[in-house]
Amino acid sequence: MPNNAAAPTAFWVAGREAAGDTTFDVTSPWDGRLVGTVSVPTEEQVEEAIAAALAVQDEFAATPAHVRAAALSHVEHRLVERTEEIAQLISAENGKPIKWARGEVGRAVSVFRFAAEEARRFNGGEAQRLDTDGGGAGRLALTRRFPRGTVLGIAPFNFPLNLCAHKVAPAIAAGVPIFLKPAPATPLSGLILGELLAETDLPAGSWSILPVPNDRMAALVQDERLPVISFTGSEKVGYDILDSVPRKHCTLELGGNGAAVILGDYASEADLDWAAQRIATFSNYQGGQSCISVQRVIADAQLYDRLVPKIVAAVEAQVTGDPSDAVTEVGPLVSEAAAERVEAWVDEAVASGAKLLTGGKREGASYAPTVLAELPADTTLACEEVFGPVLSVAKVDGEAAAFAAVNDSKYGLQAGVFTHDVQAAFRAHRALEVGGVIIGDVPSYRADQMPYGGAKLSGVGREGVRYAMDDYTYERVLVLTGI
Ligand code: NAD
Repeated sequence: MPNNAAAPTAFWVAGREAAGDTTFDVTSPWDGRLVGTVSVPTEEQVEEAIAAALAVQDEFAATPAHVRAAALSHVEHRLVERTEEIAQLISAENGKPIKWARGEVGRAVSVFRFAAEEARRFNGGEAQRLDTDGGGAGRLALTRRFPRGTVLGIAPFNFPLNLCAHKVAPAIAAGVPIFLKPAPATPLSGLILGELLAETDLPAGSWSILPVPNDRMAALVQDERLPVISFTGSEKVGYDILDSVPRKHCTLELGGNGAAVILGDYASEADLDWAAQRIATFSNYQGGQSCISVQRVIADAQLYDRLVPKIVAAVEAQVTGDPSDAVTEVGPLVSEAAAERVEAWVDEAVASGAKLLTGGKREGASYAPTVLAELPADTTLACEEVFGPVLSVAKVDGEAAAFAAVNDSKYGLQAGVFTHDVQAAFRAHRALEVGGVIIGDVPSYRADQMPYGGAKLSGVGREGVRYAMDDYTYERVLVLTGI
């Protein structure tokens, strides 16, 4: 457990607890208090973790599925038992309201449960007859997946436990060693996973969790012994990594500026109440710091005037404040600098002609839930990912214009479409340039087993337990002759 008095929180080298010779502090974005002190790994400890992963690769790939599944189930059950303690830790270091932090632990529980199930199913392989064409008589192909090599997993601050779980659990399920690096602002939630993994009998070297400082990451990214990089974080860092190692297998889960579309048929009072409530909640939850937060509302002109006051009322009803308070919906951003950036973008938008409908105020690291209308297209807010509790509303004429507005973005992570029309749902699925289309809800819906990732600059590849397992491995065919 983190300890803000004596020994710093340790990290995990090849499955064993270890400490370096320097430390850094983790503070609460809400009140600045010291949440923990974390030990920084030395170059030798980083090297030890990589060498151990390399040494165990074959043994880990051959570890029986039931052994790996049992280890994953153990972590799942221990997360359930320690939910409250871990949720408090997430809330303290990230500033996430405690109700959302408890939800995040619940999602990590699901990730380990899905991974235990997938470990049992994975790599059954398939047989394909080859005599369907000339030259194939007497031949049979069998396929199996094999590890690409040790994975370097790099996680962001905004879901500090669950996005570490999304790196680690699929690796164990697929029998692939992983070197995990949590985010510097929120390392404690990732490091606590090490305590649970250390209780299992997974082979030493199959996992390491090290809070390597950013200025030492380039060497790790370049290291040829880590041929797979699974990165979740910002567009800038993600594409810098890809550009620096174009021959590596990189999965990039990057930013977005999620749109919620309300089509003309979604027009009853109950419909609009539901849409407004979901939009207000998921543009602001955890301070809007989710890659699939609602940043843009694109509403059919026929219902815009009825919808917008409902959204503003629902946004104003969001409970802001102390993240440890059970009723708080919206806490601080991860830092005062993050809140200042959001403030600057909103100020720029207003100076450029946007209408502020509510919010627009900052206090320390907290930014008030904010709604803007008539946002000019050339503002930073219209073009970039805000990653804060800020929403813009726009009016469009009809479905085609709505879908075009969604696509008028460099990002394409997920989109929500409020409609009852099943044909419109299929048209949205065809038209929207995103990794996921959510019908009847906001873009912020994610189930941890479904394929998840972006189109355009929102990323490359897919997570979601089985999809990450596919990503960490590759298919190799075995052709049998004369049978
Ligand atoms: P970030 O890019 O600043 O950091 C992400 C991780 O990269 C951290 O662990 C950081 O220490 C590390 N890092 C920083 N510099 C590095 C370098 N030069 N080489 C290697 N690693 C380096 O992102 P953040 O602020 O922690 O997270 C917010 C971003 O993450 C947002 O853009 C958000 O949209 C995105 N995100 C995407 C998803 C998704 O699944 N698509 C999910 C959550 C967050």
